Amino acid sequence: MTDETEADLTGATARRRPKASAERIGDRKLKPSTMMMGYGYDPTLSEGSLKPPIFLTSTFVFPNAAAGKRHFEGVTGKRPGGAEGLVYSRFNGPNQEILEDRLAIWEEAEDALAFSSGMSAIATLFLAMTKPGDTIVHSGPLYAATETLIARILGRFGVKWLDFPAGASREEIDAVMIEARKTGDVALIYLESPANPTNALVDVEAVAAARDAIFADLTDKPPIAIDNTFLGPVWAQPLRQGADIVVYSLTKYAGGHSDLVAGGVLGNKAHINTIRAMRNTIGTICDPHTAWMLLRSLETLELRMTRAGENAAKVCAFLNGHPKVEKVGYLGFLEQQDDARQADIYRRHCIGAGSTFSLYLKGGETEAFAFLDALKIAKLAVSLGGTETLASAPAAMTHLSVPEARKQALGITDNLVRISIGVEDADDLIADFEEALKAV
Ligand SMILES: *Cc1c(COP(=O)(O)O)cnc(C)c1O
Repeated sequence: MTDETEADLTGATARRRPKASAERIGDRKLKPSTMMMGYGYDPTLSEGSLKPPIFLTSTFVFPNAAAGKRHFEGVTGKRPGGAEGLVYSRFNGPNQEILEDRLAIWEEAEDALAFSSGMSAIATLFLAMTKPGDTIVHSGPLYAATETLIARILGRFGVKWLDFPAGASREEIDAVMIEARKTGDVALIYLESPANPTNALVDVEAVAAARDAIFADLTDKPPIAIDNTFLGPVWAQPLRQGADIVVYSLTKYAGGHSDLVAGGVLGNKAHINTIRAMRNTIGTICDPHTAWMLLRSLETLELRMTRAGENAAKVCAFLNGHPKVEKVGYLGFLEQQDDARQADIYRRHCIGAGSTFSLYLKGGETEAFAFLDALKIAKLAVSLGGTETLASAPAAMTHLSVPEARKQALGITDNLVRISIGVEDADDLIADFEEALKAV
């Protein structure tokens, strides 16, 4: 069947699956940064428009009744792989489909889904994968809203959980999985790496080996999902270390301009179809305009993340050893900070150190606040991964409601400043931090 006849049959007007766009030149497989400019979109289906139009419509016209039936077979899961053509905007739309095709490319995932926020992606994943009595095994700490979702919300529906610390060894992970098996069906293993704000890396290879060993007798082993928001997709690609599903807050580096909220899930077709069926039901897809903004963002993803990473390396080199600085929690310093196990995970799992790190000032809240209030280029705000540098005090802001003992255990001390470096000029940023440290 040619592209044209398939387009006619499915009634999809904007584009069809990306056969038209090149994935290869001769033998050369194109890099994601090249493919972000055209993959998955055929201008001839949209009046030659170089960029995809934003499709503001709630529903899609079927070319005939038989096509409508085929499309619904896709939506209801009778036909695997999602709808063959577009049906209704709660299920999907042209902008979101292009976005999903392009998201999958970065980690060579089979398929991807776009969501209205990182949390709606995570919530849809959990709802799709768990039932009352099941247990979720997870690394800790997790993003605060994810912890709330597991413990307080899924807990109300009879889902249990057990966690191991992010830096756990194979033996510690084994022990928690063995314990979890005794509690019921382990539905999902959920990771976040590096943990926020401790920056502890999870050994995904060890988790995958533990899962394969502890659940060796099961044909349906619990899938491993991981929140890759902090390092993905440029600095870490955990599907390569044995994760099955990757979750993103696209609000952060992927969106990258602090002007949208969105989420993504990547993985193999079977997992994605399970999650898609839940998304179809509850409508957690992102809107077409946000999808379009993300398409624009993905064109510069590698440029932005590379520059931010280079900037962070320079800024951290300046901060490290400054007389008013106690410690810089930056992945690039793991080797020199004598943490052999974390350094080993870093070498095996990470392509770069990222641009979000923890700065521990000498002193406490007074010193942290004086520093934050003196910053001129860096903005005082939570979130991360934008073009602009942001700084905040977790103990007084994002983690204010965390009990004191747990704060201490996680290293969320009053002198901690969380910094996300942007794409400004590195020397300007260093000048800003140098002046602000004088105010401490
Ligand atoms: C921000 C964030 C989330 C939540 O994403 P939203 O887009 O704000 O819903 C989840 N995980 C991590 C690691 C985050 O940084």
